[in-house]
Amino acid sequence: MNLLANRLPQAQLQPAAQLQAQSGMPAGISVSFEFFPPKSEKMEEALWRAIRRLEPLAPRFVSVTYGAGGTTRERTHATVRRLVEETSLEPAAHLTCVGASRADVDAVAESYWQAGVRHLVALRGDPPEGEAHYRPHPQGYAYAVDLVAGLKAVADFEISVAAYPESHPEAPSADFDLDNLKAKLDAGASCAISQFFFDPEVFLRFRDRVRAAGITVPLVPGILPVTNFGQVVRFAATCGASVPDWLAESFAGLEDDPETRRLIAAMVAGDQCRRLAAEGVEEFHFYTLNRPELTYAICHGLGLRPTSLCLAAEQS
Ligand SMILES: Cc1cc2nc3c(=O)[nH]c(=O)nc-3n(C[C@H](O)[C@H](O)[C@H](O)COP(=O)(O)OP(=O)(O)OC[C@H]3O[C@@H](n4cnc5c(N)ncnc54)[C@H](O)[C@@H]3O)c2cc1C
Repeated sequence: MNLLANRLPQAQLQPAAQLQAQSGMPAGISVSFEFFPPKSEKMEEALWRAIRRLEPLAPRFVSVTYGAGGTTRERTHATVRRLVEETSLEPAAHLTCVGASRADVDAVAESYWQAGVRHLVALRGDPPEGEAHYRPHPQGYAYAVDLVAGLKAVADFEISVAAYPESHPEAPSADFDLDNLKAKLDAGASCAISQFFFDPEVFLRFRDRVRAAGITVPLVPGILPVTNFGQVVRFAATCGASVPDWLAESFAGLEDDPETRRLIAAMVAGDQCRRLAAEGVEEFHFYTLNRPELTYAICHGLGLRPTSLCLAAEQS
């Protein structure tokens, strides 16, 4: 019996796999968390509070986004570097094609490799603010597939790419989009992270199509816990994600009630994850928006526990 055993309730003192089994979740669930780089000192403090809160859940990796048009290049780099230097976490840096030559992008990738970063999320990116259509940089990588191949030529990074359960809004067809995903994986990516979605069936049907196309790499659902429903509706419209009526109904009348909205958000995303886990999904990527509480609660519901407690349990 170790000291912790005297202080902690029994349920907290069991190995992770057992805890997951008791929560009705399959053992072996793993998670990753996405953050965005902070714009101010206050936001930086909030980001690091979020990182420290979620770190004990031992995510497979944590990723840091790259602002539209490369606008956060320095801030993304600084955040990723700090993750390498000050945490036990594996960082994955997002990189896009927008507004940069191949030489510039390669130089950023090279500096990540030098800093010890081994995982990149390779994206085409969206047009910079004020521009309606994407136009490749004349000397740049045109699409994510080109970026993946270029990054692999810089160094042997682990590369994740984006996937779209409801198709990318600019794709001429769902089949074209699926071929594009396959091409990104053939170019060297080894994991696909999905755009957010709300109806688990949407993801599951997409997974069927992905597997039928012969794609075998992990397809990880991107989970967006919703707190600001209006904002999500606007965002969903730009990236082609559908918002089911039942979701609108769940948030109706709560415009001035943030506390209940948060409870509903946890319930909705928790149900979504449980349904996916019941269908064999074992890996989840959370769009945290730099706020840890909902993500932490949902992970708890998936059976994840802080690693120090699990370690204590295994040693007792
Ligand atoms: C998990 C995730 C993380 C993200 N992180 C960021 C981020 O950090 N920063 C950011 O700016 N954005 C980010 N995004 C948004 C992303 O950049 C946009 O969705 C963007 O519009 C598409 O990027 P992609 O990598 O999927 O592009 P691609 O895979 O290149 O596809 C883009 C579109 O072009 C089409 N296409 C591909 N090849 C061709 C071709 N040869 N000719 C014509 N059409 C073609 C595809 O079908 C698709 O419609 C993220 C998205 C996801 C899902």
